[in-house]
Amino acid sequence: MGQFDGQPSVRWSLRGLNEEGDETWLIRGIARKLYHCPGCHGNIDVGDEHTIVQYVRRLGGTDHHHWHRRCAEELLIPELGNLRRIPASESSQSRLEARGRVKSGRRRN
Ligand SMILES: [Zn+2]
Repeated sequence: MGQFDGQPSVRWSLRGLNEEGDETWLIRGIARKLYHCPGCHGNIDVGDEHTIVQYVRRLGGTDHHHWHRRCAEELLIPELGNLRRIPASESSQSRLEARGRVKSGRRRN
């Protein structure tokens, strides 16, 4: 297994672009309540390690969903372009929400 196995971790988040050109951030999370995975419609139980998928929209705004790690890896990651690893410290929700207040053309990397 290499350093980058396609999954977000404590240290690293992932960022790619979906087909609409929205930034798609994948962040490791621990469920604090019951979630339903959009990939398989199954439950993510409290305490489960999972993947938070946060979109930073090209035209501004953010929203997020909670996915099983495997579902995100199998269904979501293959659809993303320009995928790269970003230090997890740069993917806090408040940072991404601030990023969503700027249109993509004026965003910095
Ligand atoms: Zn799932």
